[in-house]
Amino acid sequence: MEKKYYPTIGLEVHAELKTNTKMFCSCKNNPDEEKPNINVCPVCMAHPGTLPVINKKAIESVIKVGLALGGDIADFTEFDRKNYFYPDIPKGYQISQYKYPIVSGGSLANFDITRVHLEEDTANNKHFDSYSLVDFNRGGVPLMELVTEPNTFDNAEIAAKTTSNFAKELQLILWYLGVSEANMEKGEMRVEANISVSENQKVLGTKVEVKNLNSFKSVEKAIKFELDRMTELLENGKGEDIVQETRGWDEAKQKTFSQRKKESSHDYRYFPEPDLPKMKLHEVFDLEKMKSELPELPVEKRTRYKNDFGIKDEDIEIYINDLIYDAFFEKVAIILNNKEKTKIASNFITNDLIGIKEFGVNSVVPEVEGFVELVNLFSENIISSNVAKHLLQLITTREKGNSPLKIATEKNLLQKNNEGEIKGIVEKIIAENPEVVATYKAGKENAIMSLVGKIIKESNGSANPQIVIKMLKDLLARP
Ligand code: ZN
Ligand code: MN
Repeated sequence: MEKKYYPTIGLEVHAELKTNTKMFCSCKNNPDEEKPNINVCPVCMAHPGTLPVINKKAIESVIKVGLALGGDIADFTEFDRKNYFYPDIPKGYQISQYKYPIVSGGSLANFDITRVHLEEDTANNKHFDSYSLVDFNRGGVPLMELVTEPNTFDNAEIAAKTTSNFAKELQLILWYLGVSEANMEKGEMRVEANISVSENQKVLGTKVEVKNLNSFKSVEKAIKFELDRMTELLENGKGEDIVQETRGWDEAKQKTFSQRKKESSHDYRYFPEPDLPKMKLHEVFDLEKMKSELPELPVEKRTRYKNDFGIKDEDIEIYINDLIYDAFFEKVAIILNNKEKTKIASNFITNDLIGIKEFGVNSVVPEVEGFVELVNLFSENIISSNVAKHLLQLITTREKGNSPLKIATEKNLLQKNNEGEIKGIVEKIIAENPEVVATYKAGKENAIMSLVGKIIKESNGSANPQIVIKMLKDLLARP
């Protein structure tokens, strides 16, 4: 019997918080600053004699995350010094949290959360051929660190998918709470995965840490690659070749590579930060109120959209991930107040509107009123689906704000249900296409569709296809 291998994944995710100022000083927190060393001051540059001051907004942001994840908010919490020496940390220690994190427990997208704490980000090292430069703009920016419990999966594929899905869900929550942009490409959210494979669910295998994952795709691919690499070593009896180390992800080669073998475990000599006060969060924050004021979270929105509107899961995901389309859809749904029409509206948004760009800008939407009018015109058979799509394009771009009914009337695009009006066009097309008519009369029934297409085109898309087909069949059936 083939042996089974169980992958285990634990995650550490860092996310830069979106605050006006840094964690312990009044420097601007601006991730888009391109000039180096602009947002710096004696505090974040570690000049002697300076003292840190806690950014309350950053604490509040982590509490919101904790509440959204269903974790426990600490009654008592404090900051600690994590001591190490490196050019990106001018104090010689990072202010972080050790024994008393702000949040303990909670869960998200199939992972249990161990803790969420707050610390300061390090500066950015830029390496050149023979020298390195340090940019301190990022140094001291509030950084949230979330740690998950190790999670054991059935196979590598599920492990990789579940992990990248977790990262996506976390990003959504940070967006919905408005606490972080969490853009992975920009390093605002950084995922590290602790990966091991075991032949026995009860004993964990040797752990490898994979870093440099700067997209959801690379999270998935790197984990799959690393699990396959480890499993293959185990299958070939080379389990001892799996060593505890840090590995990076090479996007070009689509491979993980060894960055450094684990030296004897770091001793950071954590101790409580003496320059900052201890905190009693339950006294400072009204947690009940904060909880009741949390925005609707993705998981709640999914359920509501499914129950209230009955739209497809993949369409719901479009709204979950794009707040512009989402806000637009919600306004439309409220005005329409009709399940069938709301479904039609959603189809226009997710199939057609999504492809419309104005000046290269994504997620452009028309005026709500005009769009509602368009949905009503289509639902009541006053315009055809092709005309509706055409009008949608117009009212989203150069005819923005205009009434679709007015445009359709002017351009003579209203659906022609009037048989007399359609008949003229049908007769014209029959007369112009004797060969197709002959083919049809010879028994090739499908040929009729080419005539239908020509008639609808001739009517600028306004002829009702059902009426056209019936009329054609009647006319061509005559001896
Ligand atoms: Zn500063
Ligand atoms: Mn950290």
